[in-house]
Amino acid sequence: NRTVSVLGVDFLHTTMNEMIARLSGHLEREEKAFVVTANPEIVLHAQEDEAYRTYLAKASYITADGIGVVKAAGLLGDPLPERVTGFDMFLSLLEVANERKFSVYLLGAKEEVLEKTIAAIERQFPQVEVAGSHHGYFDWDSTEIEDEIRLKKPDLVFLALGFPRQEKWIAERYDQFEKGIFMGIGGSFDVLAG
Ligand code: UDP
Repeated sequence: NRTVSVLGVDFLHTTMNEMIARLSGHLEREEKAFVVTANPEIVLHAQEDEAYRTYLAKASYITADGIGVVKAAGLLGDPLPERVTGFDMFLSLLEVANERKFSVYLLGAKEEVLEKTIAAIERQFPQVEVAGSHHGYFDWDSTEIEDEIRLKKPDLVFLALGFPRQEKWIAERYDQFEKGIFMGIGGSFDVLAG
């Protein structure tokens, strides 16, 4: 896994297609993975926040979320092939899930946005099983959500909590889970909900 360092954040040297193929392999083999799609804001935040760096250190893969990171890598003399964003991966993984009848768990956004997101998934990706969901304004000390995920073992867990919350949530609980692709996707539920 060749990586390219941008201000200490190690980005995977990969393309969108390659990344989806890689994650599809993990899904087929029921292996877990923690994916961070990092934009320049995240790279700068990591400079200042040591705790956030420990969350990034737990990630299986960090991809370039946006042209800013791709350009920065190029300027540093170690180019990345293209951007691999959270929203694009979200849609591509829903396509994979639709083909392979994988299950998803959705965590984040406001209740009404979440409901619209689920309706959009059911309409556009009818074979995807929505194993469970929870809005993003929960009590952080409650273990209800992770208990449900451990029980239901969804293939994919999408977190739309915004950064740094989504990476923190995953990093602090990742060891508890046996399987699942865990990925923070920022405001993507709002976009899909329309
Ligand atoms: N969000 C959430 N819980 C929170 C704060 C935000 O679920 O405590 C959701 C918010 O509703 C939105 C998503 O996180 O759907 C992205 O929020 P924001 O735009 O603040 O994050 P960014 O895009 O900057 O990562």
